[in-house]
Amino acid sequence: MLIVQKYGGTSVASPAHIRRVAERVAATKHQGHQPIVIVSAMAGETNRLVELAQAFGARHGREVDVLLASGEQVTASLMALALQSLGVAARSFLGYQARMITDSSHSRARIRQLDASTLLQVVDQGTIPVIAGFQGVDQAGNITTLGRGGSDTSAVAVAAAVKADLCEIYTDVDGVYTSDPRVCPDARKISRITYDEMMELASLGAKVLQIRSVELANAHGVKLHVRNSHNQEEGTMVVADNPHGEPDDLERVVVTGVSLDLDQARLTLIGAPSKPGLQSAVFGPLSEAGIVVDVIVQNPPIDGRTNLSFTLSESDLPTANQTLENLAKQLSAQRVFSDSGLAKVSIVGVGMRSHSGVAHRMFELLAASGIEILMISTSEIKVSCVIAREHGENAARALHAGFGLAG
Ligand code: ADP
Ligand code: ASP
Ligand code: MG
Repeated sequence: MLIVQKYGGTSVASPAHIRRVAERVAATKHQGHQPIVIVSAMAGETNRLVELAQAFGARHGREVDVLLASGEQVTASLMALALQSLGVAARSFLGYQARMITDSSHSRARIRQLDASTLLQVVDQGTIPVIAGFQGVDQAGNITTLGRGGSDTSAVAVAAAVKADLCEIYTDVDGVYTSDPRVCPDARKISRITYDEMMELASLGAKVLQIRSVELANAHGVKLHVRNSHNQEEGTMVVADNPHGEPDDLERVVVTGVSLDLDQARLTLIGAPSKPGLQSAVFGPLSEAGIVVDVIVQNPPIDGRTNLSFTLSESDLPTANQTLENLAKQLSAQRVFSDSGLAKVSIVGVGMRSHSGVAHRMFELLAASGIEILMISTSEIKVSCVIAREHGENAARALHAGFGLAG
């Protein structure tokens, strides 16, 4: 089998870790498979590099990407050396050498194309390609990065391009759990989860997989296996919706998982004249400023004026606040109100499609814990509530227990 194996930061945290991973890759090859390896930077390294850039007030852009991409350059080279030291032919590839072509949006570049032929040629010669994750190159030759956690997306893109039989994501937990095992110690490992559910969990704060990697896997039908690099346990298979409607454990439960996103803040435009085009006038400039908006709530107008609230990442609050203050003047709105220190707790499950009362149960559980709900957002397979950050972990634990997810 042609198997793409991605090793996250904690799996390559030191030369000893890298040697252990190399042994695992070599064993895969000795079993008759053809591995292609993607590596992240050593644990903590990307954060360290982000801080270095901040010394010069830089958070995004061309030079920051040159800096951030260096973490994965180190581990790609060390992993190739580790494999060679075990007598296994290996060759490192930086993003541009693997022809990972992206657009030019630094720090959140999207992959445009990936030429599989170079990698497949190397594989055919019996050499293991070791690719630096998280990085690509734009048409003009500038180094780009794919957003935090982006090595997952590099791995799935490679798996799709080479038509791999399987894409294994090796991390520091045994798979995808019913909730973050660091927050809910009694969380259970899920053996199978649908792409849809995984996309919701990932977008709602479960960083075990970068959301874009799941979208890409879904679009290209890449089979994902999330597992622990420190043991041989079976992890979690991320699969398409059960095509034959066979009853399996996915359909017996209504809520599959609980996610927690601790990085939320809220802005409210108060007393804006309610008229066609208001929302586009507000969210257009925010989007141009690179602000990603999450939950949006608008109240019914009273006397022709309405309040429009939305949540966003707290790190975007200063820029968004300034943009909204300017807009408030232009739109003759009364004022802007900002609150920080929020979190979003969510329940996810395809079973919700056919069950009623799930949202009500969530509200009951939060009420019983004395937690005030500030905003609510729903989709077919999830319900999210924005709450105060100080209650985030308690809320996740209460929902996890209340929906019977504990192991
Ligand atoms: P890597 O460096 O291997 O990419 P990450 O730190 O990006 O690892 O992701 C793994 C972490 O994701 C786990 O250590 C865990 O704390 C966190 N996590 C959050 N939600 C979940 C979940 N539902 N299932 C498993 N892990 C989760
Ligand atoms: N090293 C990058 C990060 O920390 C990419 C990754 O780990 O997937 O975000
Ligand atoms: Mg990760």
